[in-house]
Amino acid sequence: MRWKRSKGIWVFKQFSFYMNLTILGCYAATPRTFTNPTSQVLEIDGRLFLIDCAEGTQVQLRKNKIKFSRINHIFISHLHGDHVYGLIGLISSFMLLNRVNDLHIYGPKGIKEIITLQLRLSNSWTGYGLFFHELESEQSEIIYEDDKVVVKTIPLKHRIYTNGFLFRQKKGLRKLNIEAAQKYKVDKCFYRNIVLGKDITLENGEIISNDLLTFEPIPPKSYAFCSDTIYDEDIVPLIKDVDVLYHESTFLQAEEVLASKTMHSTAREAAGIASMANVKTLVLGHYSTRYDNIELFRDEAKEIFENVYLADDGLTFDF
Ligand SMILES: [Zn+2]
Repeated sequence: MRWKRSKGIWVFKQFSFYMNLTILGCYAATPRTFTNPTSQVLEIDGRLFLIDCAEGTQVQLRKNKIKFSRINHIFISHLHGDHVYGLIGLISSFMLLNRVNDLHIYGPKGIKEIITLQLRLSNSWTGYGLFFHELESEQSEIIYEDDKVVVKTIPLKHRIYTNGFLFRQKKGLRKLNIEAAQKYKVDKCFYRNIVLGKDITLENGEIISNDLLTFEPIPPKSYAFCSDTIYDEDIVPLIKDVDVLYHESTFLQAEEVLASKTMHSTAREAAGIASMANVKTLVLGHYSTRYDNIELFRDEAKEIFENVYLADDGLTFDF
């Protein structure tokens, strides 16, 4: 619930409580005419989180009508080019657009050096605050938290140091039962305390217990981003029961040996992880550009796990 004071009375407003994911790019390796390497935007209760920032991210943000100024936190999984080569361009465009808000970048140790070297040699410095949160832990850790969202790393096994990211909504406020509040003749000035979980004492001294005036909060949502990684059952406890798991599936099982050699996963392996972790929905992505038909990924995964979706550039998933 959100509250706003208007003309001397508290106005009751339904508080936004949602999560959606827009895929900007979900293919491996190289940008192509109609496909882009990895980048996505997760929106949680009005906050935007950019996850990975490959070449083409700026153009994809424009195409998907996502305002640059709403991006204040960028999470980079690892320093391979198809996940990070768009970052310097985006930072530079923020500069040209006279950005004023601070920008926070979470990524592997070395990311600060990569970005500042380019800024220094081009004598280009940001007019806004640029903060790097460099990661080097092999253990899962909380790297971002506010009143609505907490973000933890998911340590992955890839050719270089790599993290996935787990985004969890915090438990929401209880929902006001307006009919009940009116029945007990509770004054509107108590509504805020009610959604905060407090009991209410009426003028006649009668105490109305909170559970008579409210509904349960909407269950919080969770999203796990896992790209790139070899098949790794160690991540299962970290992503247990999440609402949506994005798991890379660079290859099909026919290329199992290549997947393992390049420390990537197959669609079948991604489905195996989804099944073990009991996630609600699996979204596949990071397809090798060798495949013309990505439907094959869904077919393969569905043999193991039923609720599978294919990521594709420009698609938005509402949780
Ligand atoms: Zn990689």
